[in-house]
Amino acid sequence: MKGFEYLQAELEEMKKAGTYRGLVPIQSEQGSRVTIEGKEYIQLSSNNYLGLTSHPRLRKAALKAVEEFGAGTGSVRTIAGTFTMHEELEKKLADFKHTEAALVFQSGFTTNQGVLSAILSPEDVVISDELNHASIIDGIRLTKAARKVYKHVDMVDLEKALQESQSFRKRLIVTDGVFSMDGNIAPLPEIVRLAEKYDALVMVDDAHASGVLGSNGRGTVNHFNLDGRVHIQVGTLSKAIGVLGGYVASSKTLCDYLIQKGRPFLFSTSHPPAVTIACMEAIDILQEEPQLIDRLWENTTFFKKGLHGLGFNTGVSETPITPVMVGDETLAIALSDALKQEGIFAQSIAFPTVAKGKARIRTIVTAQHSREELQQALDAFERAGKGLGLI
Ligand SMILES: *Cc1c(COP(=O)(O)O)cnc(C)c1O
Repeated sequence: MKGFEYLQAELEEMKKAGTYRGLVPIQSEQGSRVTIEGKEYIQLSSNNYLGLTSHPRLRKAALKAVEEFGAGTGSVRTIAGTFTMHEELEKKLADFKHTEAALVFQSGFTTNQGVLSAILSPEDVVISDELNHASIIDGIRLTKAARKVYKHVDMVDLEKALQESQSFRKRLIVTDGVFSMDGNIAPLPEIVRLAEKYDALVMVDDAHASGVLGSNGRGTVNHFNLDGRVHIQVGTLSKAIGVLGGYVASSKTLCDYLIQKGRPFLFSTSHPPAVTIACMEAIDILQEEPQLIDRLWENTTFFKKGLHGLGFNTGVSETPITPVMVGDETLAIALSDALKQEGIFAQSIAFPTVAKGKARIRTIVTAQHSREELQQALDAFERAGKGLGLI
């Protein structure tokens, strides 16, 4: 069809620059191994930290939900689409996170968008880490509040922004709990200390920390013993929890306000029964099978040590997100391709997900990987890295 030549030109530019992405369809279930084009690969690129996407208890819960309640809900939450199961999940999430209340959105992305766009007005200011997730950036774009961006995890810069913001009605500091492309943890104790000093609210997006950090995977706030001192915790049900969705865990007042004003909550249909009931099962599993989280961390330590031993640079990672830093976009693609030849699926990440010239392979091992699979992956990294002169 004619009319899209201007877009096609841009696509060609992206291909030349190494920032174009093709989709890679998986033919099996998500797991430590996946099938792509009929061939089996060791999966190092999913967010399925605990292997819950295919956990027998989640499968069973989802099937039962479909049998009992059908496939969909037929309405948005605020009209006719709130089922008792939705409120049960929210109660469970609030108990798990040690907060007064929780509210589920369609995804982590819409949670950030919905919360930030609802609670900030022109007389407020939002103060955001420069490496925050795209959904936080987009949420901020939707507000009419004043904006300040501080240098990544730079507490001197954050304090400066707070000092300059004292005339506003409200100051909201927002940060990822674990930064999704580098795997480092936000300095929350210092952020909370500054927030208390300058009378600011704190919002933490724990997408990559829920199910990973803190007791039973409660997240970074619990990890740092800051329960009760962070005003807004956002989490996702799509990563370690293994299903789909996002939530905010906070005060009753905030959740009630978001039911009135959170636009994705108001204008998009509620989760199907299978999603909601499988999420509840996952929260139970976090509490009943904490050995999954131990296994995730054992695998993480083993894999990181292996990469360091080979001479790879994994940046500032402190969590299962382990980037193998390459720099050049085309070289990152070449490394990913070489790994694929070796039976390892490890995607390269480039602009706009990370800055230009900071391309990398982002690996995430899971609790499901066996030692043999991880050793096989390390051997492949060694051969591919040497072949490309990276190590
Ligand atoms: C993945 C991610 C999200 C989005 O979560 P979804 O449930 O996949 O929409 C939000 N914030 C951060 C930091 C993330 O890494």
